[in-house]
Amino acid sequence: MIFENNLAFAQSLDQQDPLSALRNEFLFPQQNGKPFIYLCGNSLGLQPKSAKQYVEEQLGNWQNHAVEGWFEGDSPWMFYHKTLKELMAPIVGASPQEVCPMNTLTVNLHLLMVSFYRPSGGRFKIIMEAGAFPSDQYAIESQVRFHGYDPREAIIEVAPRSGEYTLRTEDILKAIADQGEEIALVLFGGVNYFTGQWYDMPAITKAGHEAGAIVGFDLAHAAGNVPLKLHDWDIDFACWCSYKYQNSGPGGISAIFVHEKHFQDEQMQRFAGWWGYQEAQRFKMTKGFVPEAGADGWQVSCTQVIPMSLYYASLRIFEKAGFIEPLREKSIQLSAYLFYVIGEVNKSLGEEQYQIITPATAADRGAQVSIVAKYKAKEVFNALMANNVLGDWREPNVIRLSPVPLYNSFEDVYTTGEHLLNISKSLI
Ligand SMILES: *Cc1c(COP(=O)(O)O)cnc(C)c1O
Repeated sequence: MIFENNLAFAQSLDQQDPLSALRNEFLFPQQNGKPFIYLCGNSLGLQPKSAKQYVEEQLGNWQNHAVEGWFEGDSPWMFYHKTLKELMAPIVGASPQEVCPMNTLTVNLHLLMVSFYRPSGGRFKIIMEAGAFPSDQYAIESQVRFHGYDPREAIIEVAPRSGEYTLRTEDILKAIADQGEEIALVLFGGVNYFTGQWYDMPAITKAGHEAGAIVGFDLAHAAGNVPLKLHDWDIDFACWCSYKYQNSGPGGISAIFVHEKHFQDEQMQRFAGWWGYQEAQRFKMTKGFVPEAGADGWQVSCTQVIPMSLYYASLRIFEKAGFIEPLREKSIQLSAYLFYVIGEVNKSLGEEQYQIITPATAADRGAQVSIVAKYKAKEVFNALMANNVLGDWREPNVIRLSPVPLYNSFEDVYTTGEHLLNISKSLI
């Protein structure tokens, strides 16, 4: 599409956008009586207007049924997660059996590594991306130590080449091939939180399997953002949080994916709890753990109904949108427009003051555009904020802007560019 850098053009794209009405399903934070242009859905998604109603329903069930709520009422808590599984599965390309909402993300990463990081003999290494989200670094490092290995030997980080910000797929595949039979686990992000790069997940998975390793992904920045086919790509396991692109609220519930090929594995190790026990027998409270079939068998504690109800509110909006494909179509256009608008800002300034480090190719990115600001980066960010543009800041000089197809418009993107140009002219 040929873009134009003016308000009328942006508004015409919004008029043609079949998803534009979904914006009305969300609550926008305000400043000086005006809603923010919210470009921070990569960090915390907006609150669905319906969230309160879904929470109130469960508070009502608690009020009316108390402990009987586990089996009584219109959505008994015992089975509440099953409703969510049906709606989560199409977002990540899995069967409902392969996914389950539970716990929080880093906790799930640990639980899944207990099952899927099983170093033995010469096969003990983990391949991951350099500069992964810190929680993942700490989780992986501590798991390696837990098994008695030295993280400096066991963790192989794939880094961008010098002068580059993003990873080349060929370098990832080469690292996997080089370490070969020493690799126990390939554990990558789906979309990198800093650069917004979407890694070639099928290629990484294939290479990991060829090396005889297990392959898992942290999809915190990918789930609800880019179309995933976790089952078809033959990924062994994955986990993600739902409060970023899936709008489930601060500290919202996480979810796991386990490929069905692992369901029959009798040797599978896990840290068990009563909620992972076979559902039909759970309340017999017998000795000796027998897991429920599927991803549900990884549950540990009883269902977190209130966080799930928040996630449910958002999942219903995804359902209304037609799940991920229509959103992705809009997302590609929105991000492309942001690329274009920032290019226009640089042109007007006569130099590249804003260097986009997110890959330009749609297949290599999601909704997030990360920008290195050459001058007065923090001041520029603060001035955007003062002008009601809420992005997010990463030291030392990176501004991340995420136009989210559920609630951002082309006008949002245009206006952001206009503010960025004016701010740059006045500050720099
Ligand atoms: C956001 C994010 C987390 C956050 O973990 P929590 O356990 O939810 O606090 C972890 N890993 C990645 C890659 C993330 O992007």
